[in-house]
Amino acid sequence: MFRFFLSTTIEDPQNIVIFDKAIIKKITKVLRLNVGDSLFLFDNTGEEYEVAISEFKDKKFFCRLIRRMEIDRELPIEIVLYQSLLKKDKFEWVCQKVTEIGIKKIVPIITEFCVVNELNQNKISRYKKIIEEAMIQSGGKIPPIFETVIKFEEAVRKLNPRDLNLIFHEQEKNNNLLEILRSHGNKVINIFVGPEGGFSPFEIDLARQNSLIQVSLGKRILRAETAGIVACGTISQLFVD
Ligand code: SAH
Repeated sequence: MFRFFLSTTIEDPQNIVIFDKAIIKKITKVLRLNVGDSLFLFDNTGEEYEVAISEFKDKKFFCRLIRRMEIDRELPIEIVLYQSLLKKDKFEWVCQKVTEIGIKKIVPIITEFCVVNELNQNKISRYKKIIEEAMIQSGGKIPPIFETVIKFEEAVRKLNPRDLNLIFHEQEKNNNLLEILRSHGNKVINIFVGPEGGFSPFEIDLARQNSLIQVSLGKRILRAETAGIVACGTISQLFVD
């Protein structure tokens, strides 16, 4: 069965009209669905509906509601990934994988050793598109929020001390991720991952002063994009049922 994400909120499930050109093209040209065929539609509120196409008129699909779905594929915790900007297509990779895992927010950050220091509008649109596709493919309902890029210092200062705030650092020898997760019951887990060159000593100090816990992902040094995905994946596995 085919699932589509509507970027407009479904206000009246009894009268859903699809006018998104890309979706219409996919329904007509790729999937070749016709009046009477059914599909799943969901929006940014997390609601999902099974509908049947009842009419195709003026380049719009009019749908008849079959049923409202009761599906919960969300994690019971909120993982927020503060990922340093990365070279080439590495950031796309991270966006795609952590969306599949089911994190709630991606915050791109600029750190001292970042090689890439800005995010242009094209890249932002591309990341958002990748996120949307990854969410649909993985059966998620609510796409992670893609925040505007901010500097590391600002991100650290804005953290809520009641959340579990972790910074991943390859030089940490003792603090193991699973042990920390088992000894904390916070609902929101903010995780910081450095760029290819790692965090600077100044950044590690600042993080410590702002009570971020320094965490190890093992003795091997992972690539920045691997570290973020491994961290999110490991955390999520403790909470999936
Ligand atoms: N330039 C550094 C490595 C940076 S790895 C060096 O060569 O020594 C990039 C980022 O991935 C780091 O900033 C950290 O956030 C994360 N990372 C990689 N391996 C890690 C590990 N074993 N433990 C914790 N974090 C790790």
